[in-house]
Amino acid sequence: MCGIFAYLNYNVNRERRHILQVLFNGLRRLEYRGYDSAGISIDDDYFLSSPQSSSNDSLSPPPIVFRQEGNIESLVKSVYQEVAATELNLEKSFTTHAGIAHTRWATHGKPAPRNSHPQTSGSGNDFLVVHNGVITNYEVLKETLFRHGFTFESETDTEVIPKLAKFVFDKANEEDTEVIPKLAKFVFDKANEEGDQTVTFSQVVLEVMRHLEGAYALIFKSRHYPNELIACKRGSPLLLGVKENDDVCNGSAFHDAKFLLQNSNPKELFLSSDANAIVEHTKKVLVIEDGELESD
Ligand code: GLU
Repeated sequence: MCGIFAYLNYNVNRERRHILQVLFNGLRRLEYRGYDSAGISIDDDYFLSSPQSSSNDSLSPPPIVFRQEGNIESLVKSVYQEVAATELNLEKSFTTHAGIAHTRWATHGKPAPRNSHPQTSGSGNDFLVVHNGVITNYEVLKETLFRHGFTFESETDTEVIPKLAKFVFDKANEEDTEVIPKLAKFVFDKANEEGDQTVTFSQVVLEVMRHLEGAYALIFKSRHYPNELIACKRGSPLLLGVKENDDVCNGSAFHDAKFLLQNSNPKELFLSSDANAIVEHTKKVLVIEDGELESD
């Protein structure tokens, strides 16, 4: 049994150092569940847009991924070593930031950094996924993605998920609708129905989910949708905790996450496979149901 954890600070200034600490502490709380490797992803510092930039350059930089075999403390050590080597600024403050973390219990592929999560869609880290569970039809999905030019660097069943997300996203954004295969057509049509050519992050994930068989709790992060996370599950547990500094959700029962979208009040959101990692931050916890999709 592995664990997944995510921390999203929304309209609350948090330094990178703090974000890292929250992610590491989340993983420490999940340690008792058992694991053989661990990993996290956080944002890089800057946006690539410059006076000479092309439209594609407005894309946020690839999120940074750290993955290690072994225990959480060896991940922590390697992260701080790399932070020092790359002079990544720990004091850099983010008003909104979405970080994800994972402890892995290998089911497909031996414990190794390349098999640890987050698993990625490719070198640009367009889509990143942390996964708890097993995808039973990953071989057939892998075949299909191979045929569309994707290459794989891990032996995990999980790697097909971020790659499928990239495939769906890319196809849905292709201007020539003739070339959109059935796989992405649903997303494209949905976006058009809503009078918007741009697919939303949750539309991409819904399409990915339609093709997955097996058990999973998933959190998606993407440089195409900065400051957003999408969580979904089937079979494996996943919880959402919300900490708000004002009274907006005090006194009212927390039955679904829809109210989160209704205001831009400062808040901190925690996703975890176990309440253990959330209760130190907030008592407002929602158990996500199978097939439900939360976008934070
Ligand atoms: N099946 C995935 C893997 O082997 C996830 C395992 C887990 O739940 O930790 O990478």
